[in-house]
Amino acid sequence: MKKVKIIGGGLAGSEAALQLAKENIYVDLYEMRDIKTTGAHKTNKFAEFVCSNSLGSYDITNASGLLKHEMEELDGVLMNIVHESKVPAGGALAIDRELFSEKVTNLIQNNPFINIIREEVTEINDDEPTIIASGPLTSDLLAKKILDFIGEDYLYFFDAIAPIIEKESINFDKAFYLNRYNKGTADYINCPMNKEEYENFYKILINSERIELKSFEKNAKFFESCLPIEVIASRGEETLRFGPLKPVGLVDDRTGKENYAVVQLRQDNKSASLYNLVGFQTNLKWGCQKELIHSIPGLENVNIVRYGVMHRNTFINSPKVLNATLQSRKNKNIFFAGQITGTEGYTESIASGLLAGKNMARYIKGQDLIELPSETMLGALTHYITFEEHSSFQPINSNWGIIAPIELDKKTRKNKKLKNEILANRSIEALKKFTQQR
Ligand SMILES: Cc1cc2nc3c(=O)[nH]c(=O)nc-3n(C[C@H](O)[C@H](O)[C@H](O)COP(=O)(O)OP(=O)(O)OC[C@H]3O[C@@H](n4cnc5c(N)ncnc54)[C@H](O)[C@@H]3O)c2cc1C
Repeated sequence: MKKVKIIGGGLAGSEAALQLAKENIYVDLYEMRDIKTTGAHKTNKFAEFVCSNSLGSYDITNASGLLKHEMEELDGVLMNIVHESKVPAGGALAIDRELFSEKVTNLIQNNPFINIIREEVTEINDDEPTIIASGPLTSDLLAKKILDFIGEDYLYFFDAIAPIIEKESINFDKAFYLNRYNKGTADYINCPMNKEEYENFYKILINSERIELKSFEKNAKFFESCLPIEVIASRGEETLRFGPLKPVGLVDDRTGKENYAVVQLRQDNKSASLYNLVGFQTNLKWGCQKELIHSIPGLENVNIVRYGVMHRNTFINSPKVLNATLQSRKNKNIFFAGQITGTEGYTESIASGLLAGKNMARYIKGQDLIELPSETMLGALTHYITFEEHSSFQPINSNWGIIAPIELDKKTRKNKKLKNEILANRSIEALKKFTQQR
């Protein structure tokens, strides 16, 4: 049987290797950290958590919690080790980081199917079945080869993400649909501001705290067209009204006039449940972002499914590069897993390693690959990153806005906990049915 090459012994690569080994498939696991550092990792151990020691919620009515339960349903190996390394953290699932990566490293080292190679990979050989799981801090030489493999326009090195919100929570007594100069169908949602509201918004913005960049990110240059909103604001009180908040061409039907300023929201997913704030890429602390967004008329009670971030992050344009099986469209031998696919977070990285590992095993055995149902959180995530027609693709973490919608009466829809419980039960049922059929 063919051997599989895995590039990167992080969260995704470790889970993928252990999944393949469970299927008695031999793996060469390449990890460069003995020789070269990423700048963020501190050890040479496998599956190191680079920052916080929390994987977020384990509650099944939380999107990230559901993803963890799905991994358990799919026999994820790292989830077992998470439980073995758990430390008390209220509702969150937090671990002793060192114990966790020690345990993963032992498991990998003692596995007869996994051969560890401490080396920086600088080539992609598309004759070899390979999972690329080299993470957000992929080494420069490998990044260059990935660029050659997938094509010039499909690899990014920096996130500049605007916040994304749930449409259902927008107040349409204030917000309205309209395109600038009334062109085409009314695709944009507009949140109008009068002078006083704008001044209040501006005051909150310039007084908000920013997240400090890490040392390996300090040299990052922002494109002028992609400047953080706080940087534009720092150039003067009026700059936003001539930039992302310009009201020109947006005549409000209710008054017959243009407003003083307008925040525009653009559709973010196919089912139109999510919208992003146009021009709002930001590096503000999350608490400040929340206060700022909730100060916008129409968004006072809005659910924020992802906050804006700006940080170093190597990721591919998965909608153009990958199938929902995580196999590359260009060459069946090549799979991608982890944060490099455009999912974000520890839990999401492990989950995509799990799926890539399972699918690579099926590929090696000549079986059909798995495409998970979009009623599941992992299925929804892989569909989001591979099928959606994004105006500009940006990484995402698990959230309820991406999961296949469900018909519910108004009262149940308004009860968030109950709604999420129904969605979570549906997901586990779908997953059980799906795995029984295989
Ligand atoms: C600074 C930072 C902080 C983060 N903090 C959090 C957080 O607190 N919570 C959260 O949920 N998520 C966080 N993330 C996001 C994400 O969850 C983690 O980065 C996660 O580790 C990604 O998993 P991965 O398997 O895709 O990549 P990694 O875990 O980074 O694994 C990739 C591995 O590939 C290796 N590698 C790279 N290039 C090569 C090469 N050419 N040859 C051989 N090996 C190579 C690297 O050394 C690394 O071990 C953070 C990311 C960064 C960059």
